[in-house]
Amino acid sequence: MIYRGRIAPTPTGDLHVGHARTFVAAARRAEEHRGEMVLRVEDLDPLRCRAEYTERAIEDLEWLGVRWSEGPLHQSLRREVYESVWRRLRDAGAIYPCTVSRREVRDAAHAPHEDEEGAEPIFPPELRPAAGAGRDATSPAGVVWRFRVPDGEVVRFSDARRGAQAFAAGVDFGDFVVWRKDDVPAYELAVVADDVAMGITEVVRGEDLLRSTARQLLVYRALGARPPAWCHLPLVRDAHGRRLAKRHDALSVRELRKRGMTAEEVLALAGDEERRASA
Ligand code: GLU
Repeated sequence: MIYRGRIAPTPTGDLHVGHARTFVAAARRAEEHRGEMVLRVEDLDPLRCRAEYTERAIEDLEWLGVRWSEGPLHQSLRREVYESVWRRLRDAGAIYPCTVSRREVRDAAHAPHEDEEGAEPIFPPELRPAAGAGRDATSPAGVVWRFRVPDGEVVRFSDARRGAQAFAAGVDFGDFVVWRKDDVPAYELAVVADDVAMGITEVVRGEDLLRSTARQLLVYRALGARPPAWCHLPLVRDAHGRRLAKRHDALSVRELRKRGMTAEEVLALAGDEERRASA
């Protein structure tokens, strides 16, 4: 089987050193396996994504020496792929339309661990509709759709860097959104739909998505699709342990280029931040 990896930037701003490091590592892994690499632009959110950021990200990636064999493929042009996955999940009874407001979820939510990486308030199971809700829907538009998680089941997977992982459905995460009220496919659905359609054999991404991997494994199962292998990389943090991606002054690759740094220096800087944080 040929190795197929992907890099999946979201064009909501300029590429910063943390992303750059993840993408460079993903590209190296594909090279080590003499595999293929897909560049996928995750530009589904029409309010937050901008075409100019896509262009700039591509240019920055090329400057960093990242190479891909396919793409850029734009999620914004692949709606029928996501609708077809939505239909399959609907037919499988895995998802339901949810009319509970965000505020109601927040007020009734169980034990939110919001400070933990990738965590969000647990959707209260008592607010779920009866089984079969939404079976007759002909379109996902107009309402939030959620995945009905198997409460209490422990989702396990093996990560190339972190080893055995386990997250409990209904405890570590609850019913998650697969389609947004503004008629945009949600991340957890789009990413699985694409990783399946693009024949991805290993997903290399940041550690902040470990919990999402557990959610996504449930989507793979509902679709009867074979999941890829997983490799989650440490996030670049500053000297205070804050994620670089979350810092407003986080340095963009573009800014460092402008200051005259080489690609090697930019990547080394990301490494220094990481070492300093773990020291
Ligand atoms: N687009 C996501 C990001 O930029 C990556 C998603 C993924 O790798 O699954 O964080």
